[in-house]
Amino acid sequence: MENTTQHEFTPPTDRPVVGRFAPSPSGRMHLGNVFSCLMAWLAARSAGGRMVMRIEDLDQRSQNPENARLLMDDLRWLGLDWDEGPYYQSERLELYRDAVERLSNRGLTYPCFCTRAELHAASAPHASDGTYIYQGTCKGLSAEQVRQKSVSRPPATRVMVPEASDPTGLVEFYDLAYGPQREVLANDCGDFLLRRSDGVFAYQLAVVVDDGEMGVTQVVRGRDLLGSSARQTWLSRQLGYEPPTFGHVPLLVAPDGRRLSKRDQDLHMGVLRERFGNPKPLLSMLAAAVGMTESGEEKGANELVERFSWEALSAHENDVVVANGTLL
Ligand code: GLU
Repeated sequence: MENTTQHEFTPPTDRPVVGRFAPSPSGRMHLGNVFSCLMAWLAARSAGGRMVMRIEDLDQRSQNPENARLLMDDLRWLGLDWDEGPYYQSERLELYRDAVERLSNRGLTYPCFCTRAELHAASAPHASDGTYIYQGTCKGLSAEQVRQKSVSRPPATRVMVPEASDPTGLVEFYDLAYGPQREVLANDCGDFLLRRSDGVFAYQLAVVVDDGEMGVTQVVRGRDLLGSSARQTWLSRQLGYEPPTFGHVPLLVAPDGRRLSKRDQDLHMGVLRERFGNPKPLLSMLAAAVGMTESGEEKGANELVERFSWEALSAHENDVVVANGTLL
């Protein structure tokens, strides 16, 4: 993925904004998740838009109703509400199955038998999001080879992206914070997974189907997913949806540059709710990190709506450092 100044894009503005929360309930929300949720909510509300709640629980690890309940309770406590949902991805498998079938019927998918070890051993260059670029090892398998290999191992399913020389594999889009983006799918990600060999549908597929089916027009999330957006834009078009507009927001990191994670127990919502007692100082601290409040100001979610701007976020595209529970 590279920034480019060669092309001028303007973000589509003609669709009413529908944003979404798409949390994975694999643990309690931490400060970094709260920041992304706040920005997604402010971006939608400041544009007069609606919010959809979708629980991303495809993976066994995230199928935890108690975590999902706490997550929604924490968002309500923060004053970040939604108009539709919750939807649970674990209840939408038929839709994902149908989408894979539609792509397969057009000859766009193939079974892949590569093991994790084989993928690593192929020492492919890494894509912008840290995942490997698949080299197409299983692309040309004959029906007989597929039959033989299936005996010992169930295959994963990959979607075939256009060859590097094919202009339809060049994806360009405008990120509301990071500006114009372009990616040649064959070079920057390769044929990607739609379904894993254990039968679990891949994040890329589920997110595209859901955003399409739910009429989501604006996806606001952490910068770590910027590298997925070209794939999602392309897949969305393949499935007949109009891709959403993307806006990525800075990540919250520890002083050593490591991303905050659910392991940072001191920054999870249980602790934060106790420490702050009231959502205003917590939300204001997050908003101040991207220049939407002055230090000392205390604003609730609704009062922050008018402070939101993509310009403010673009000006803070670097990670936000958190030390001792405070944003620097
Ligand atoms: N469920 C993903 C996460 O919690 C977010 C997916 C998305 O926003 O597209 O990291």
